[in-house]
This record gives sequence, structure tokens and C-alpha cells, in this order.
Amino acid sequence: MFAAKLVCTKCGEEYPLPLGIYRCPRCGSPLDVTYHYDDIAEFIGENDPWFREHPHTWKYWMFLPVSNLRKVVTLNEGGTRLYRVRRLEEKLGIGRLYVKNEGENPTGAFKDRGSSVEITKALEFHAQRVIVASTGNMAASISAYGAKAGLEVTIVVPEGTPEGKLVQARMYGARVEVFGKTYDEALAEAERKAREENYHLTGNYHYRVEGQKTTGFEIIDQLHFNVPDWIVVPIGAGTHLRAIWKGLKEFRRIGLIEELPRIAGVQIEGYDAVVRAWKTGKPIEKITKKTPTLASAIAVKAPVDGENVIRAVKESGGHLDTVTNGETIEAGRLLGKEGLFVEPSSATSLALARKMREEGIIDRGESVVVVATGHGLKDINTWRNVLSH
Ligand SMILES: [Zn+2]
Repeated sequence: MFAAKLVCTKCGEEYPLPLGIYRCPRCGSPLDVTYHYDDIAEFIGENDPWFREHPHTWKYWMFLPVSNLRKVVTLNEGGTRLYRVRRLEEKLGIGRLYVKNEGENPTGAFKDRGSSVEITKALEFHAQRVIVASTGNMAASISAYGAKAGLEVTIVVPEGTPEGKLVQARMYGARVEVFGKTYDEALAEAERKAREENYHLTGNYHYRVEGQKTTGFEIIDQLHFNVPDWIVVPIGAGTHLRAIWKGLKEFRRIGLIEELPRIAGVQIEGYDAVVRAWKTGKPIEKITKKTPTLASAIAVKAPVDGENVIRAVKESGGHLDTVTNGETIEAGRLLGKEGLFVEPSSATSLALARKMREEGIIDRGESVVVVATGHGLKDINTWRNVLSH
């Protein structure tokens, strides 16, 4: 294993691995896993077979914090295709436009990359039962990987969560526990049970980041180690964007790429805590108002990795903005015409790329990768309502 230690993303305090902590004990911020990068560089070297291997999450095992590769819990996540969408390129006036279609993952969403790492770590920590607070894609994903590993999975959801959103998790055999009125309360309960009742906590923590960064690795790999000008990522908790940026910097650190792309993050109107902080230069303030939205998977009031998103976008010379429900519907339809059916939250990345092109932030000749995070079948009711209006 090449993993070295945990480092706080805010105060820089370092901690040894493995340690059963979820946030920096000193300042409460998210943690990063760091590696012995020079050793990874030497290990990969000019290893031709490795470069030619088809991209998938565990191809990049040297960048993942797992001590025994024979005990990896996998459902063949990752290796999702990168689609060049030529008619859309022409329509939007973008040089080269690609869609990274994360809906092709085993449970239909990008979360599987992180769940594979998190559940593998749960076994390393000798966990018997895992817990996660989620109402959607994360719940389904942890349930599937927990089932594969033979672990008991508990999902904590707030009151009023539509039963339809829990069907997939229940089919994987998860237990559902209703607690509190909001997602924040459900999350606090999951963390309490992890502390006091011997549950292994999963969610938007550092081991998930490690799995999620492989989205970025694969994009580079699929472009034959060329770097696009832009990668556009939807922001829910912000963990995926943060992870992709971390991965790209690691690739550069060991010399696999020389440049870095610019990163753009997109939030849906009404849930713009990060965009607002970015535009005003003020600290992130939690959204208090509930706004009807199409993009429920990214309707997050207090993104846990919001500060890390702003840092990544600043470092990359990137961009943050919101899109409207209308722009999202239009983008979903455009993707449909390319043969790609994505959930509404996923269409926001194309909606933002289009907006950035119109505003001249993306130049005509540039190459852009938009990340589509989940399959359209995940949220069929929302699209059905759109079609019936
Ligand atoms: Zn700290």
C-alpha cells in the first residue's frame, strides 16, 4: 500500500493511518489521504501493460488506501464510457465535447466508486454493520456494496422521505431507520450511532473521496493522457468535484500529466450556498429555504465539501455557477438526442457548459468534459412530469 497518512484539508494537521476518525479532531474539517508519490511514480515507470489496461476503478489501486487487494469489495464499478457528442459540439460551438457517463456504474450512479473503497475499508476495520445517512443514490450504493460484502446495512433517512427513493436500497437488503425532520438530523443520528453503538460510518468522508477521484483518472486515461481544457461537475456535497481535483493533482505530481484542466462546478437554483460564497467572497452559509427543484440529488443545503470545492476551483482557475430548472430540462433533452438518458441532477453539468459557452467563458476551440453522475432511470418520475407538461 502506498497510502501514507491523513492530512486535514483546512488546518494541515497530520494523522496516522489507519485511524477511525471522520473529520479533523482539531478543527472539524474533512481529511485527505496522502501517498508516497515518488514510490508510485517509480512503481508505474514506463509500465506499458498498465497504460494499455482498460480504465476501471481498481486499475489505479496504487492511489487507493487499501492494504489487501485480494479483499477488495467490487461490483465492477468504474470504467464508464466517455462519449464524444459531435452534434452537440456543433450546436453549442464547443471544440470537443465529451460526456463521462457515470450512470453506467452498477447501481446507476457515480457513488459506486467511493462505496467500493469505503466497504473494503469497513472489512479491513472488521466492521459487521455499516450505517449511512442518505435518501438517494448513496443509500442505494452503500446497500449494494454492503450486501456484496455480507454486511448489515442501515440507512438513516429523515421523516417524509418518499418510499420510492428507498426501493433500490431495500432490494439490496438494507434496513431503513427514520430519524428527524431533515437530512442534517439524520446525519447526526448516523454519526451518533457510529460513535456509541459500534456501527461503521460511511458517507462523504475521506475514503469515499479516494474512490471518487478515479472519475478524474479515467477521463485522463480515456483521452490517452491528454488533458481537457475544462471538466464540469455537479455539486451536491461537493465531494466528487473535490475528489476529481485531488486525483488530477496526484496524476500531475507523479508526472503522468503536465497540465491541469480548469474545473467548473454547478449547483441548481435555490441550492446555491457554494456559488454564493464564491461570488461574494464570504463564508458559506447554509440554505434555509426549501425550493421545489428537479435536481433533488444535488439539492444540498450545506455541502460538506463546499470549502474544498471553492479551493479547487480557485486553484484551477475555474468557474462556479448555478443553472435553472428550465436550463436543466433543456440539457437533459439535448443529451437524450445523443442517446444518453441521465437523471436531472446530471444534466446540470451540460446546462452549465452551455451557459459558459454563451458567456464566452468557454472558448470555441476548447475541449470540455461534462460529468453526468446518474442514470435517468434513477429519477423517472421527474422526467415523466416534465414530459407531461
Ligand atoms: Zn484541521
